[in-house]
Amino acid sequence: MKIPELYRKGKLPISYEIFPPKGELSMDALRTMANALAAERPDYISVTYSAGGSGNSDRTAVLTGMLQREYGLLAMAHLTCRNSTRADVDAAVQQFREQGVTHVLALRGDRVPGCETQDFHYASQLIEYLGRTTELTLGAACYPEGHVACSDPARDLDYLRQKQDAGAAFFITQLFFDNDCFFRFREKAAAHGITVPIDVGVMPILSRESLIKMSFNCGASIPAGVVRMVHKYQDDPESLRAAGIEYAARQICELAAGGADGIHLYVMNKPDVAHALTCALHDAGY
Ligand code: FAD
Repeated sequence: MKIPELYRKGKLPISYEIFPPKGELSMDALRTMANALAAERPDYISVTYSAGGSGNSDRTAVLTGMLQREYGLLAMAHLTCRNSTRADVDAAVQQFREQGVTHVLALRGDRVPGCETQDFHYASQLIEYLGRTTELTLGAACYPEGHVACSDPARDLDYLRQKQDAGAAFFITQLFFDNDCFFRFREKAAAHGITVPIDVGVMPILSRESLIKMSFNCGASIPAGVVRMVHKYQDDPESLRAAGIEYAARQICELAAGGADGIHLYVMNKPDVAHALTCALHDAGY
């Protein structure tokens, strides 16, 4: 099964995003997490690649391969290019081949000062390169509120179209907290000739600190309702976590009802979060 086929099955695809643990890789801890996530039967799981310059990229292929082989899951590796030469990309692809990985989310990547190369400046170049040199099925990122470094939303949509034209077969959105941003973006993307499916990426708010960090890093606007929620539970982290999961559950059910092509949950390696949000979708009939 390839990810683009999921959107034609008549059932809303539900996917998770996880990251390879940093530091010493404890395979036991990984298997415990993978087992719990697999029990939710997601349509696919994607594994980040050194997100935020965390330096855990060598574990992406191993974890992605393990999810496929040991848990029978469809899995996708992320791959970034901004800090890579062509030879680095070829080496990563070789690791993917060895692990049986056939799906890649092709990204530019976050900036790591002093590490940028001249081989790739944008994700569209990586997509074009991988399309020419490999048989991988490729996805890419999109930004309902515009990429944080792009001051002209129309240009951002031109660049999105470049990624589709280069061979991206589906998109996954950056997180956002206001569904209207996504619905407006979807209309504009369609007007720009975006025809491939768009999975909506949703991340629950689990703490005040994580909300500020996420929002600052990716430029997601914070609706007044979220500010009120965080304020209400400022002295009660447990209740804020529960309220954040409830907010995300409402968000994804509304997105599903609004005809989202797929729901991609940033579960942050937390099976209880995956369970709560997946159940919310199932209870709503998805
Ligand atoms: P691009 O599409 O290349 O866009 C980057 C910027 O360049 C934008 O401002 C765009 O407007 C501009 N641009 C694009 N093309 C052109 C052009 N031809 N000319 C001029 N300007 C152009 N990061 C990680 O490090 N690891 C991960 O695993 C990871 N996973 C992610 C998963 C998802 C779903 C998302 C949404 C993001 C993820 N990121 C990850 C973060 C991502 O790498 C950053 O947001 C990065 O800054 C942009 O990546 P991109 O692939 O969208 O880049």
